[in-house]
Amino acid sequence: MHPSLFNQTPADLADLLEGLGEPSYRGRQILEWLWQKRSTSIDEMSNLPARLRDHLKASFSLRSLTHVRTQGSRDSTRKFLFRLHDECHVECVLIPASPALHGERAHRRTLCVSSQVGCAYGCRFCASGLDGFTRNLTADEIAEQVLLAEELSGEKVHNIVFMGMGEPLANLPQLLKAFELITAPWGLGIGARHLTVSTSGLAPQIRKLADHPQQIRLAVSLHGASDKVRNRIMPVNRKWPLSELFDALHYWTKRKNQKITLEYILIDGVNADLAQAGLLAQHAKSLRAKVNLIPCNPVEGLPWKRPDEPQCRAFRDSLVKNGVSATLRLEKGHDIDAACGQLRLKEEKKGRKDVD
Ligand code: SF4
Repeated sequence: MHPSLFNQTPADLADLLEGLGEPSYRGRQILEWLWQKRSTSIDEMSNLPARLRDHLKASFSLRSLTHVRTQGSRDSTRKFLFRLHDECHVECVLIPASPALHGERAHRRTLCVSSQVGCAYGCRFCASGLDGFTRNLTADEIAEQVLLAEELSGEKVHNIVFMGMGEPLANLPQLLKAFELITAPWGLGIGARHLTVSTSGLAPQIRKLADHPQQIRLAVSLHGASDKVRNRIMPVNRKWPLSELFDALHYWTKRKNQKITLEYILIDGVNADLAQAGLLAQHAKSLRAKVNLIPCNPVEGLPWKRPDEPQCRAFRDSLVKNGVSATLRLEKGHDIDAACGQLRLKEEKKGRKDVD
């Protein structure tokens, strides 16, 4: 498999063109064919000389992702499943804004993208971790999810959250390169403030990302307000317990001067009691963080149950009473296995059965 032309930055192309004795402006032309004209074939690049097109065809592939399936409808959450060149699968989820919550910005779409195939972190409530880790995605495989979601939906993506399959901070070099492809004016041209990285709590990488110059936003999958509860459902907490995680988060807020979002899945009998709400309020206030509460989604093969609505409301009200900005969202796409990793698991299990 050749490297993807979509993975080439202007600097990469400048080196390549210099080596071929081609003028440097060809780099701009190539990027325009890729990102603005959304070329699906090198043969379409009609303003490039035939010798250069031949060289590109012999040395690079173009699209790395093949669309397999879409679930969901135009006015709701849609999930796209893609096959990679090595028969692995990834998925991304296109989420419309809620008119009730977003008013004038209700036309804005958020895309939740994957950064790895599978995940090594094994959070106990997550379908992506069920089958372990397969591999990191390359930067073009990450950015191409945006390109294809726009093409398949016919809609512009305004915000990107790195919250799909995988732990994005465990794939930091490719993630940083994907930021470049996504934010550059020659690339997708989406502003860094519209990118949110969601991590399960890799403290050293949070510090590294805090030192990255772009104003990327950060969300943390907290899901437990004490080490005891978090250890039970998030093995990552044994490596970086809450004290280390919060040190890193304070470093982030100092460097970025930005509000962090704490994501908190409510699981009946595990983390949805008022004692956890009290501790969560203390953590959130110390960071001046917002809290997103998400009643858990049932996942095939996992035992967790969502608390009933009065319990979810009582948890949210307890945070608000303590002065924390908290939202309770009934998760979109509940009906289409929107929790990350579920569609891919079904596809890969089906593939295995077909082979058996
Ligand atoms: S929640 Fe995120 S970090 Fe945890 S297993 Fe799932 S994909 Fe990995």
